[in-house]
Amino acid sequence: MAEFPSKLIPLAETGAYCDPVSGECVDPQEQTMSMAIDPVCKMEVEIETAQFKSEYQGQTYYFCAPGCQRAFEKEPQKYLSADSHEHHEQR
Ligand SMILES: [Zn+2]
Repeated sequence: MAEFPSKLIPLAETGAYCDPVSGECVDPQEQTMSMAIDPVCKMEVEIETAQFKSEYQGQTYYFCAPGCQRAFEKEPQKYLSADSHEHHEQR
């Protein structure tokens, strides 16, 4: 259930992610992509180990706790609109 920014292509061999436009490669250990922001409490959640997640409008959101997940599922708009109007990439 991995999601990558559309610009980045996962390289199976190295495990690194390279941007075909800039040619920049990111070490998977260092990139922030493995972290998602809990939209409820704004905490960083590690995607790899996230136990609480919810899909909403094609996006997967990660939560630090079941309480956050429930709160989000109850009123997803509240937490998404409280943020900016920018479309956030999965992190
Ligand atoms: Zn939380």
